[in-house]
Amino acid sequence: MLLPVNLNVDGGWCVLIGGGESATRKARLLAKANAKLCVLACNDFNASNPELAELVAASQGRAVNWSQEQKSPVELLEKRLVNAHLCVIACEGVGHAMQRKLSAICVKNRIPVNVVDKPELCTFTFPAIVERGSLSVAISTDGKAPVLARQLRSRIEALLPSQYGALVDLAGEYRDRVKSRLTDAVSRRRFWENTLDGPAAEQVFSGNLQTARHIIETELATQDFSKTGEVYLVGAGPGDPELLTLRALRLMQQADVVFYDRLVADDIMELVRRDAQRIYVGKERANHSTPQAEINELLLQYALEGKRVLRLKGGDPFIFGRGGEEIEHLAANGVDFQVVPGITAAAACASYSGIPLTHRDHAQSVRFITGHLKQGQLELSWSELLDEQQTLVFYMGLHAASTISQQLIAHGRSACTPTAIVESGSIPAQRVVVASLEMLPRALEEHNIRSPAVIIIGSVVQLHEKLAWFNTIDKVE
Ligand code: SAH
Repeated sequence: MLLPVNLNVDGGWCVLIGGGESATRKARLLAKANAKLCVLACNDFNASNPELAELVAASQGRAVNWSQEQKSPVELLEKRLVNAHLCVIACEGVGHAMQRKLSAICVKNRIPVNVVDKPELCTFTFPAIVERGSLSVAISTDGKAPVLARQLRSRIEALLPSQYGALVDLAGEYRDRVKSRLTDAVSRRRFWENTLDGPAAEQVFSGNLQTARHIIETELATQDFSKTGEVYLVGAGPGDPELLTLRALRLMQQADVVFYDRLVADDIMELVRRDAQRIYVGKERANHSTPQAEINELLLQYALEGKRVLRLKGGDPFIFGRGGEEIEHLAANGVDFQVVPGITAAAACASYSGIPLTHRDHAQSVRFITGHLKQGQLELSWSELLDEQQTLVFYMGLHAASTISQQLIAHGRSACTPTAIVESGSIPAQRVVVASLEMLPRALEEHNIRSPAVIIIGSVVQLHEKLAWFNTIDKVE
C-alpha cells in the first residue's frame, strides 16, 4: 500500500514539467495548496495556455522555456530541483525515455516525483479527491482501479453536504479557544463530538453561521465536559436492521463500549462502531448469563470511567426489556442517559405477518402481556382478557402456551378465536403459524416453534390472508 499523507507545500517551490492540459490540471491542484510553481516547458506557453501562465504568475512562480534557454530539460531540472518540495512530470511531448531520465534525477535527489499516467516512474501518486473547502477526502486504489476510485468519489460527493467546508473552518476558528478552555483531552473530544454532530453543525448546514457561533459560545461558557460518560439505552428493533431508527444508528456509531444480548441480531451488531468494545450479557430463559443487578452495575461503572456506553436491547427497551431497572440505577447515581425507543416485537411481527393489531371491525384495543413463568406458574387476571374486541399479544409465551389456551377458554373466550404464532419476526427466518386458540399448543409442537416468538390472539388474525406480504404462513386446522 502507498502511504497516504497530506503534504504542506505552502509557499514552497514545486516543479512542474509540461505546458499542456494535463500540466494545467496539476497546476490548479498545486496552486490550491499555495505552492510556488516552477514550470519547465519546451516552449513559451503564454499565448497558447493563458490559464497556466496565470497560475504561475499568481503563485509568484516562474516559467522556464528550454528551447529558448538552449538547454536540455535534464539540465534545467537538475538546477531547479534544489529546494523543490516535489516534481510533477506532465509533459506529453518528451517521450518515455526522457520521462524515465527526468524521474531518475528526482529519485537521485530524493525529491518525490509523479509522472502522469506512468505509475512505474512515480514515487507518489495523486488520489481522487472530494473537496469541501478545507475538508478533503482522498481515495487511492494504489493505482490499481482508478475508475473505482472515481465511482467512490461520486458516492462520497453525494454523502457530504456542501457546507462541510464551512463546518471545518468554524472548528478551526475555535480550536485554540477550546484547547485553553477545556484542558483535558476527553472533555475536548466530547465537546467536538457534540458540536460537529449537533445543533451547531445543523445551523452551519442551513447557512446560519452566526447562530452556530452563538451555540458554540454558549456551550463553551456553560457546559461541563468533565469525564463522566453517558449511557444510551437503545431499542434495536426485532431483528431487521432496516427497522433501526436513525438515532439508534447514530448512537451505535458513537459508542465506546456496547452491551448486547441474544435478541440483538448479528446484522445489527455489524453496524456498531468497529472499534467499540463488545460485551455479551446474553439472557436466555431461566439461564440468565449475567444477572440483571450485575448488568446495571456494569453500565454504571463503565459510564463512571467516562465511556459512552451503549446498551442495545431487542425491540423496545421499555417493553418487557427491563430498561427501566437499568436506568433507575444510573439515575440514582447521577449518570446521564438517553433512551431510544425501538420497534417492539408485537408491532413488527404484526406488520410482517399482515395482522393489524387493531381494526375498526375487529379490535378497538390491544394488550401486550408477558407469558414469562414465575416458579413454573403464569398468574394473570384472566377475566380481563376475554373481550372479543381486544387483541392479545403474548411475549415470552411459548412455555406457557398450554396454560394460556386453557385458561382463556375456561374463563370464556371462544375456543375458535383465531391465533397466530410469529417466530423470528421481521428476519428472513420468520415463520408464521395460524391456528385456533384451542389448537395453539398443538400448533407449537407440530411446527417445533422456537424462541423468540410472539402469540397474537384475536379476530384480527383472520386478516393475514389478505394482508400478508413478507413470507408464507402455515395453518394448523
Ligand atoms: N423488548 C423486547 C421484548 C423483550 S422480551 C421488545 O420490545 O420486543 C423477549 C420476547 O420478545 C421474546 O420471548 C419474544 O416473545 C419477543 N420477541 C423479541 N424479538 C422477537 C422476534 N424477532 N420475533 C418474535 N418475537 C420476538
